[in-house]
Amino acid sequence: MNRPRVVVVGSANMDLVAMTPVLPAAGETVLGTDFVMVPGGKGANQAIAATRAGASGVFLGAIGSDSFGVTLKARIAASGVDTGQLRVVYGASGVAVVTVDAAGENTVVVAPGANAAFTGLTEPELSAVRRADVLVAQLEIPLETVLEAARAARAAGTRVVLNAAPARELPAELLGLVDLLVVNEGEALAISGVGREDPGALLAAVPRAVLTLGAAGAWYGDRDGTDARIPAFPIDAVDSTGAGDAFTGALAVAWGEGRDLVDAVRWACAAGAACARQVGASASLPRRDEIDTLYATGAGSDPTA
Ligand code: ADP
Repeated sequence: MNRPRVVVVGSANMDLVAMTPVLPAAGETVLGTDFVMVPGGKGANQAIAATRAGASGVFLGAIGSDSFGVTLKARIAASGVDTGQLRVVYGASGVAVVTVDAAGENTVVVAPGANAAFTGLTEPELSAVRRADVLVAQLEIPLETVLEAARAARAAGTRVVLNAAPARELPAELLGLVDLLVVNEGEALAISGVGREDPGALLAAVPRAVLTLGAAGAWYGDRDGTDARIPAFPIDAVDSTGAGDAFTGALAVAWGEGRDLVDAVRWACAAGAACARQVGASASLPRRDEIDTLYATGAGSDPTA
């Protein structure tokens, strides 16, 4: 099978994660324990997720001219993602400064850095979008950039998958360009004012939508009348960070391969579950064989509505 071409337009951050027995209060300094530095940002994560899941993946975004940028690019490329068009802009890369306490509570400050300067898509960037089977975007870069990419995709017949995270209201023009919306409950609420009790309301805004429900699986619906609840794959969840990114990346791949969307969502649920049973975000994004193995267990294969 030809690998589908998935272009991800989005953010890249270096996540700086310090573990501490207790989170510091304002003005306080505490002595922590471990520290890790991992690539993150929904754009980079979803590009890695899609590529590991089987896509010919391209990441379009911006990193800074600092050492984090160099490391970020190398780590994203190490998963096989094409980073040849990744912009380097003068100044700081995006960073997320994270503290995690012994109970798993965290605080996060995201300083967008280069991500905020990712505007005005160039002709080569637009051309990559036009050549793709599927465009995947999120909302951690300027909205205008997402709009430009979606307009180019629509004009070229490239399918547009929008993971509308972080939650915010969206302009009607962008919703009008979306072929498949992927949201969790908070994001659904921000867009349509509804949650899991009436996900079908999302279809007033977009022709196809997925609502992810964590350990409760996902819902998929479309304007042709599909209204399917897909149960989660039962796993021992360790850390669900990145599960949504694993889900969206895998979904784009399966749809790009021409799979039926209910089946594609089921496969994406296997990807999310495979990610949630391991610690970490980008490091635990599953490879295709891991997704296939979990999917083949058949759990989660029974849409009930
Ligand atoms: P987000 O992190 O964006 O809120 P979710 O937590 O809904 O996303 O996770 C995305 C998908 O990953 C879910 O739809 C589900 O299929 C899978 N998933 C997440 N957490 C679990 C879990 N604890 N057990 C099984 N599957 C999970």
